[in-house]
Amino acid sequence: MHHGDTLFPNNDGVDIQFPTSYQQIMERIARIDPIKYSKTRNFINGAVTYLSPYIARGVVSLPQIREVVLKDYKFYQAEKLIQELAWREYFQRVWQSIGNRVLNDVKQQQQRYKHYKIPHAIVEANTGIEGIDLGIQDLYRTGYMHNHVRMYTAMLTCNIAQSHWLLPAQWMYYHLLDGDIASNMLSWQWVAGSFSSKKYFANQENISKYTGSQQVKSYLNNSYEQLAESDVPEVLHTTTIPVLQTHLPQGDTLSLQAQLPVAVYNTYNLDPLWHANDTCNRVLLLEPQHFEQFAISDKVLTWILQLAQHNIQQLQIFVGSFQDLQQQVKVQQAGAIWYKEHPTTQHYQGVQESRAWLFPEVQGYFNSFFSYWKKCERYIR
Ligand SMILES: Cc1cc2nc3c(=O)[nH]c(=O)nc-3n(C[C@H](O)[C@H](O)[C@H](O)COP(=O)(O)OP(=O)(O)OC[C@H]3O[C@@H](n4cnc5c(N)ncnc54)[C@H](O)[C@@H]3O)c2cc1C
Repeated sequence: MHHGDTLFPNNDGVDIQFPTSYQQIMERIARIDPIKYSKTRNFINGAVTYLSPYIARGVVSLPQIREVVLKDYKFYQAEKLIQELAWREYFQRVWQSIGNRVLNDVKQQQQRYKHYKIPHAIVEANTGIEGIDLGIQDLYRTGYMHNHVRMYTAMLTCNIAQSHWLLPAQWMYYHLLDGDIASNMLSWQWVAGSFSSKKYFANQENISKYTGSQQVKSYLNNSYEQLAESDVPEVLHTTTIPVLQTHLPQGDTLSLQAQLPVAVYNTYNLDPLWHANDTCNRVLLLEPQHFEQFAISDKVLTWILQLAQHNIQQLQIFVGSFQDLQQQVKVQQAGAIWYKEHPTTQHYQGVQESRAWLFPEVQGYFNSFFSYWKKCERYIR
């Protein structure tokens, strides 16, 4: 492979697409093959679902996906997939429990880091590790990166180049259509060893195997013991702080129907089925303060707006704080405010509704995914 090639041979060299119509999203769910998934998911051209952007944006829920899959397959055939879905839910539970502490080293301080920047070569997709460089280029083009390539990228950044995880996590989040604060920050911490018991390493052989790269020689062609102790390779010396800014749209001048409730959507709740049959005002709330902390690229924002406008009828876009929205609701004498529970909606006021969970019974903080999963297993059959 050389630059310009794609990491999706699965699609005959054509980039993976993320259509915004609900029907196409449902078709994608219907096509899931959990058996093939469990055998091939670690390979970048494996039968992964490409559903994360829709899950992260609240368009589809985890139990909705489980239900479709279990219509055609037995639980044991779908177990690996359901366990992966549960990883997402686990991270959401951690976030729900500890809030913005997910932005700090959760379990212990990251060991052996030198700075709070990111290697220039990562941002430029020029690290000399082909499987990673092509993966970063694909991320920029498509807004998606395979789970293994995310792990490799984080590994190279935190454990080889010795960056602290936070800024690089924000850089990746910025470019991901599926950007999710919990999955992102906690996965970076998992790789960097601050939300796990040890740092994650992958060598050249492992990277080539799962990315389909032919590369043999590189500074990662070492034993794991050597990698854990090695100095930062020359190519990763220069560091940078990328500019990560969100360019929010102007927003609409709200025109609310008096007496009718206001259903508040945001970039994590774009569920087209939510109150679909109720007569209400529908407002997509974009709070500048949120995006100052968690910036997203123009590409991601444009896609989110398309997704919202494609599937939610008569949606008005409001750019401002929740308090500003509340003020509008008061002035225009609209009815109650409805919203979904989420760590980013804790300052909202009104009628809070629950999200849909795979395991509603299993709540609170668990120290590891496996202790969480053990508890979930009780509710499976
Ligand atoms: C460094 C790093 C950063 C990440 N950042 C994000 C992020 O911002 N947003 C995000 O949604 N996921 C993130 N992940 C998790 C995972 O990589 C993606 O959810 C997955 O690659 C999405 O692709 P898919 O839908 O094809 O996954 P599939 O393999 O088809 O999985 C189906 C669904 O299960 C869930 N899932 C699968 N694997 C994981 C996992 N390891 N952790 C959490 N949920 C999982 C996702 O909702 C996914 O859509 C990150 C992982 C790493 C290592």
